[in-house]
Amino acid sequence: MEIDCTIIHSILEELKPYNATLVAVSKTKPNRDIEKVYACGQRIFGENYVQELVLKHEQLPTDIEWHFIGHLQSNKVKYIAPFVSMIHSVDSENLLETINAQAAKNNRIIDCLLQVYIATEETKFGVDDSELQKIVESYLAHNYSHIRLRGLMGMATNTDDMNIVQNEYKRLKSIFDTIALLIEKEKHFDTLSMGMTGDYKIALECGSNMIRIGSKIFGERNYNKL
Ligand SMILES: *Cc1c(COP(=O)(O)O)cnc(C)c1O
Repeated sequence: MEIDCTIIHSILEELKPYNATLVAVSKTKPNRDIEKVYACGQRIFGENYVQELVLKHEQLPTDIEWHFIGHLQSNKVKYIAPFVSMIHSVDSENLLETINAQAAKNNRIIDCLLQVYIATEETKFGVDDSELQKIVESYLAHNYSHIRLRGLMGMATNTDDMNIVQNEYKRLKSIFDTIALLIEKEKHFDTLSMGMTGDYKIALECGSNMIRIGSKIFGERNYNKL
């Protein structure tokens, strides 16, 4: 598939009424593809693998805002802390604390989202309701100065049944609203990252304001080529 700016621009038009942000998910895609999407005007890119992200950050334009959206191990935070602008996949108190410490070393403030487990599949990462509550309480107690907890991220079940997807996204939105009430306005808890190529329209209807789109922009991924 050729990268086509009109696809990106039409997604951006769809996002306008929702005031939502597009993260172009470039995992497994070569730099030349990212450069084409960059040339269409897109500046926010999402990656899932630390090593791949570090290389791409070194090689691609410096005004790209890199979002980390994959599963993150605490011992790898140090590699991305110098430049990453948002981490969507925080799933433990320990990880939050590590990101704060590494951001401090780099004199930075890193925006974080907690990844909430909303799908019915066993394979998806994220925290459940009780873990989520503990992490939020710990965040509120610590007053971390180098991270901002900006919101939540979730992935719906991978199914053609859009009723299931819609129910999961509605649930995440209601969890988001509940937590937002606990956090002071100045702390900018304002980001709900939900929606991918197959379900972003539903996600937007359910209250998403950040969507993560890979295949609709870059074409299908071929993991064998890595
Ligand atoms: C790969 C990925 C996406 C993008 O998926 P598409 O279906 O290709 O749009 C979004 N979010 C996460 C967390 C991903 O890993």
